[in-house]
Amino acid sequence: MEIKRIGVLGAGTMGNGIAQISALSDHDVVMRDIEDRFLENGMKAIEKSLSKGVEKGKLTEEMKQDALSRIQTTLNVGDLKDVDFVIEAVIEDVDLKKRVFKELDELVREDVIFATNTSSISITDLASATKRPDKFIGMHFMNPVPIMKLVEIIRGMETSDETTKVVFGLSEKMGKIPVEVNDYPGFVSNRILMPMINEAIFSVQEGVGTVESIDSVMKLGMNHPLGPLQVADLIGLDVCLQIMNVLYEGFGDPKYRPCPLLKKMVRAGNLGRKTGKGFYEY
Ligand code: NAD
Repeated sequence: MEIKRIGVLGAGTMGNGIAQISALSDHDVVMRDIEDRFLENGMKAIEKSLSKGVEKGKLTEEMKQDALSRIQTTLNVGDLKDVDFVIEAVIEDVDLKKRVFKELDELVREDVIFATNTSSISITDLASATKRPDKFIGMHFMNPVPIMKLVEIIRGMETSDETTKVVFGLSEKMGKIPVEVNDYPGFVSNRILMPMINEAIFSVQEGVGTVESIDSVMKLGMNHPLGPLQVADLIGLDVCLQIMNVLYEGFGDPKYRPCPLLKKMVRAGNLGRKTGKGFYEY
């Protein structure tokens, strides 16, 4: 089955990026959100990102216009009826995601593959909300979607080889590099990244170094483009805490306990870039 039309659920940070790269790789896109203002913001973000591409000479004006014309926005989930592939990027809430997939399961053709962009929820668990667990897979794009090359492809317990093959092909068509992993808490990306960030926060808490010195050690010594505390501010400290909790609960191992300073900063509302203050001020 050829994938011509892709349904994207959610027009937020990740959803609009996914809609953009889908359209740029010659797919028609139906992007759904629950309020007009989210769809409008999503389209503005896409237009801005495409214009930047034109300015930098990576895209032509014609490619930009073609991509924009391929994206249809809607508040009505019924408009996804004829899609050939679904990518879900609604907020990180297991009940909401299950509800969304259940509704789609009744609506779209049986052969349509469902992909979720979840950062931490079990793929096997989400798949269980549908009657197509063999056609259910994790497609974990990185932020910002149009720039980052990786797509972490996560197989649930029932995901078929055929589904995995199709998703590899689609990722490559979108200009990404897919890497296959299995369904365990945090997958690979957050299983390794988040404990590193958490450990950096413990180092601040214990006075091993200042925020700046810890980031400098990791940038200059390990060749990381950003220090772990800068990355934490970029991701959002609330999101970091939520993912640490997924690891802690998922493995039942105290080595994943979230740092008390991280919890305290989240309680204080110092969430990083999005609130203007985290480990740094913005
Ligand atoms: P976001 O809050 O920016 O966007 C989520 C959007 O989903 C919102 O616009 C919201 O209105 C919409 N939504 C809510 N209910 C909906 C429904 N029933 N149907 C359609 N849309 C609905 O969130 P985000 O950062 O784009 O994250 C989306 C997903 O991607 C999450 O699962 C998150 O864990 C994952 N993710 C995020 C990042 C990141 O860096 N932000 C990276 C990788 C994966």
